[in-house]
Amino acid sequence: MTALRLPSVDRLLRSPAVAPLQLRYGRQALLGTLRDLLDELREPARHGQLAAVELSEAVLAGRVGERLAAQHQSRVRRVFNLTGTVLHTNLGRALLPEAAIDAVVQAARHPLNLEYDLASGQRGDRDDLIGELIRELTGAEAVTVVNNNAAAVLLALASLGARKEGIISRGELIEIGGAFRIPDIMARAGVKLVEVGTTNRTHAKDYEAAIGPRTGLLMRVHTSNYSVQGFTASVATEQLATIAHGHGLPLLEDLGSGTLIDLTRWGLPAEPTVQQALAAGADIVTFSGDKLLGGPQAGIIVGRQELIARIKKHPLKRALRVDKLTLAALEAVLGLYRDPERLAERLPTLRLLSRPQQEIRAQAERLAPQVQAALGPSWQVSTEQALGMIGSGAQPVARLPSAALCLRPRQPKRLCGRALRQLEEALRGLPLPVLGRLDDDALWLDLRQLDDEPAFLAQLSELAGVAS
Ligand SMILES: *Cc1c(COP(=O)(O)O)cnc(C)c1O
Repeated sequence: MTALRLPSVDRLLRSPAVAPLQLRYGRQALLGTLRDLLDELREPARHGQLAAVELSEAVLAGRVGERLAAQHQSRVRRVFNLTGTVLHTNLGRALLPEAAIDAVVQAARHPLNLEYDLASGQRGDRDDLIGELIRELTGAEAVTVVNNNAAAVLLALASLGARKEGIISRGELIEIGGAFRIPDIMARAGVKLVEVGTTNRTHAKDYEAAIGPRTGLLMRVHTSNYSVQGFTASVATEQLATIAHGHGLPLLEDLGSGTLIDLTRWGLPAEPTVQQALAAGADIVTFSGDKLLGGPQAGIIVGRQELIARIKKHPLKRALRVDKLTLAALEAVLGLYRDPERLAERLPTLRLLSRPQQEIRAQAERLAPQVQAALGPSWQVSTEQALGMIGSGAQPVARLPSAALCLRPRQPKRLCGRALRQLEEALRGLPLPVLGRLDDDALWLDLRQLDDEPAFLAQLSELAGVAS
């Protein structure tokens, strides 16, 4: 091949193939990308390593267009969570109900009374926007809301236990993941950790024996992400509260997920409710907004008026406060709890968790032939029973009976691993990435959370020929 000259930038900018890109991405981005591409092609062109067609306006425009599209694609991407884990921390946990989405849009678009009391015309407190509703739903005296439950635990400990001792059972010194470990949080909050009991058994007398002049609080942590079975003993909130109050100390309970409603109504495993913890005597209860509650990321702190007042005065409260979009969403989500009969219809988290297995199975049977057709004969697509999880540490041992599309390569066993990895990658590479679970030499797509079937099916054709 012979040496070729590159077309000039000016000529390309005027060409009908390139001009539309300027309208779409702006002159600056287009120029930069065009120059980068031409720089890369200069040497190969001079050395005769390119065919003339590779420098045609149409081909160059196509390449620049692809690069610009890739650069401008949003990094925050919607995905299909078919992992079987409903509240998946890495995939954004709870999905908001429509009422909350509307509230977020309003709050984003218009000024609002975030810290302004419309009755008096005076400065207001952002906690007051949801305080009354949370008090009504939980029976708590007072409320404050922060960025997430990890922040809630940190703030409560720092406000009530700094420079004092905090007593906690060895069975509750948990790690939540992402470097959230109870002993570390206590240290950061300035609370001296006093561990009592053993990993599997802690008794009331262990707490009693540890209480001394430097004790600032007793703490109870819901061991949400692991379970100790067999020869175990722990002290119930009620008894622990009696011990704490007998010594004039507060009891903090970190419920983790926390829920405001008895989940067994929908056939789900029982999870302690915020109301129960308060009624049992916990003085401060903390829980997440985006786990079983089904709302936005937030940490909700409820409890005794005087303790909440101390928490609100701590300087960290300002650093950990929630924003207006979160408060708008949270108010709307909490509002749905006023009508428990319709909650499962309206709150996506509860709707998904309580979706009947027969319904998911019927969906899987309906979709299996279409997925089989898209993948071709080198794959075997079957409908299988699957076991999902709530996720986010809630009820780690409990399983949600579900149904999945099970995708198995029809290949000699030694080639299966590679085929599965290719398929998994292809699914992740779709315009709306599909995330499943690899297990037992197959890729499982748990359909509990597939509600947008048309969007799922529309992109299947892009899989044709994967790993065949
Ligand atoms: C999940 C969890 C936390 C952390 O809550 P985030 O809202 O994720 O910050 C703290 N404690 C327990 C027991 C939890 O389960």
